Amino acid sequence: MNVDLHCHSLYSDGALSPAALLNKALAAQVSCFALTDHDTMSGITELVDAAKNKPIRIMPGIELSVRWKLHDIHIVGLNLDIHHPLLTATIHKQHDARQLRAKQIAGLLETLGLADAFQKAQDIAGHDCIGRPHFAQALINAGKVPDMQTAFKRYLARGKPAYVPTAWLSLEEAVTAIAQAGGDAVIAHPLKYKLTQTKLRALISAFKEAGGVGIEVISGDMPLSQIHQMAHLADHFSLLASSGSDYHSDPYSRIQIGQQARLPATCTPIWTKWMET
Ligand code: AMP
Ligand code: MN
Ligand code: MN
Ligand code: MN
Repeated sequence: MNVDLHCHSLYSDGALSPAALLNKALAAQVSCFALTDHDTMSGITELVDAAKNKPIRIMPGIELSVRWKLHDIHIVGLNLDIHHPLLTATIHKQHDARQLRAKQIAGLLETLGLADAFQKAQDIAGHDCIGRPHFAQALINAGKVPDMQTAFKRYLARGKPAYVPTAWLSLEEAVTAIAQAGGDAVIAHPLKYKLTQTKLRALISAFKEAGGVGIEVISGDMPLSQIHQMAHLADHFSLLASSGSDYHSDPYSRIQIGQQARLPATCTPIWTKWMET
């Protein structure tokens, strides 16, 4: 079965509408598809409407940023009740943290020579769920950097001059809100945080203790060795395996929706849990 359980629309930092993403998913013969925008579910209803009478199952999703031991970790929530009051309240709280951070990043970028940074990022985003990629684009547009990678490397990545430590949700808050909303919490792209093996295992233990059930064994374009490493971790911690492209847009994503490698046979795919319902 071809699935894609991680991607972004223009409601966060992706380039496409939910309907355009759906068309890509259908063209790739994806049969189970989740939109997982950063800290918002604003695109879900549009996606569900566009998918009516189409041969595809939509899993309402989200990607929540959490602060865990000074690391910014991403937790994907899948199969959610998008109207659940605790989840809605949790997203509101997160939104306030994101807004405050955007103002702080803008302040730093202004001292570094980018005038009207907040307004520029908001205009690029087209909404008020502003993320670092929108500031990166503002830096590119102003001719300060040639591309996204350089914008992060020189300004926005952890430890760089416009990085702001953010009061994101705790791991427990995010996992609890997802679980209460009937969903499954999944650790997104575990190798992106550059944690030591010991730290990564500590993260997984804390995540499981909070009620998390899955891990992305496959995220985007990964070498086979890393896929097997993640499959082993999933097996060791009895976690369900998830898989997603983390597609954002053609220029910035190395693979298209639904084009990830297949899960190793040793994994228990998270979607088998949903097939009974
Ligand atoms: P935020 O949630 O605002 O902190 O933004 C995080 C997003 O920035 C990620 O989901 C990626 O889309 C993007 N991102 C993070 N690091 C990089 C990087 N080094 N180069 C390009 N994009 C990045
Ligand atoms: Mn992103
Ligand atoms: Mn992420
Ligand atoms: Mn993502």
